[in-house]
Amino acid sequence: MSRLQRVTVLGATGSIGTSTLDVIARHPERYQVYALTAHTARDALLAQCIAHHPEIAVIAHETDAQWLREALSNARVKTQVAVGEQALVEVSRDSAVDVVMAAIVGAAGLLPALAAAQAGKRVLLANKEALVMSGALFMQAVEAAQATLLPIDSEHNAIYQCLPSEHRGGLARHGVSQLLLTASGGPFRTWSRAALADVTPEQACAHPNWSMGRKISVDSATLMNKGLELIEACWLFDATPEQIQVVVHPQSVIHSMAAYHDGSVLAQLGNPDMRTPIAYGLAWPERIDAGVEALDLFQVARLDFEAPDEARFPCLRLARDAMQQGGSAPAILNAANEVAVEAFLAKRLGFNAISDVVAAVLNDQPTEPVHNLDVVLNADQQARRTAQQWVRHYAR
Ligand code: NAD
Ligand code: MG
Repeated sequence: MSRLQRVTVLGATGSIGTSTLDVIARHPERYQVYALTAHTARDALLAQCIAHHPEIAVIAHETDAQWLREALSNARVKTQVAVGEQALVEVSRDSAVDVVMAAIVGAAGLLPALAAAQAGKRVLLANKEALVMSGALFMQAVEAAQATLLPIDSEHNAIYQCLPSEHRGGLARHGVSQLLLTASGGPFRTWSRAALADVTPEQACAHPNWSMGRKISVDSATLMNKGLELIEACWLFDATPEQIQVVVHPQSVIHSMAAYHDGSVLAQLGNPDMRTPIAYGLAWPERIDAGVEALDLFQVARLDFEAPDEARFPCLRLARDAMQQGGSAPAILNAANEVAVEAFLAKRLGFNAISDVVAAVLNDQPTEPVHNLDVVLNADQQARRTAQQWVRHYAR
């Protein structure tokens, strides 16, 4: 790699953001932090600014920004502080930036991730919701600006590694028959639907294999995460929903697979640690140390596989249906899910009612063809309002 790569980390204080800074700190000769962003976690953002000396830090609210400016000045750190959504877009498309890690959670991450794609950056995409909401537009932007899009979601990163380097234009053209998307099954893999009714946020956020933010932890528990990932995989790899098989694999050692027409199945294995896909994205096509322990297959000992149960976990089917329906349906699904998960985390909604809310909103709201971003953003807003009504209907 020729010169220092300047990196913006969107959502720096989150689980992915923190892991990204861990990998970057191992390679000061390759990467320099240009901008760090957080929503409200000002203490964490301050500590990151002191450690990494970015040019710019972005936070959502002016009161936090004022606090941060004063604390940075006291610490003699020269980082400038910017505020709000437009600042997220600016630090994503700034000409000084080479790489953007898109690790904001949810729909809030769409506009800055899209800005990075439109500006032709190397985009490390963790924020799957951006692709779910606006897959066609996002992929068009990547193509038009010749951006480099590298998936960070561990499953998609695995598939990317198992596919030929040129894989656009449909899987069949490259001899691929199916993508096998692995799922841990979440903390409630073996629970009955009746037992699931009383699940608490604390139980849902205690994932057996991965340590993640709260929203994606709940998505993993409902299998909506796998549904969102199925949609994400369709856009990233030009696949149809029928070409993607979800395989429950409780050990999370195989991160996903590609099956070829000649009978070969290629898999990517590793310890469940997001620093592996993050390091892959940062260094591609090279490889760098990620700080991840070597995989010990004797300790793993066995790999199990089973089919997902869509009766107990309806979110997976809802997501597949939404993708098949197309247009704004995935954006509606995503918005309804975000509202329902937030209500579940606030203990206003039961666990099984998350899928009820999503199904009801998809049923209520007609889908439209997605010609431009406004269609997506309007569908998102309308779905949020409808979802709030259904949350009240299903409230505990
Ligand atoms: P997290 O909740 O730990 O962190 C989210 C980050 O986004 C924080 O820095 C937060 O300050 C910021 N943020 C939240 N709301 C915001 C808003 N409205 N505006 C601006 N910034 C906001 O989440 P995470 O687990 O790091 O996940 C981030 C993304 O990566 C999600 O889309 C998730 O699906 C995806 N992802 C995460 C993992 C994982 O292991 N954590 C794995 C695969 C994909
Ligand atoms: Mg994943």
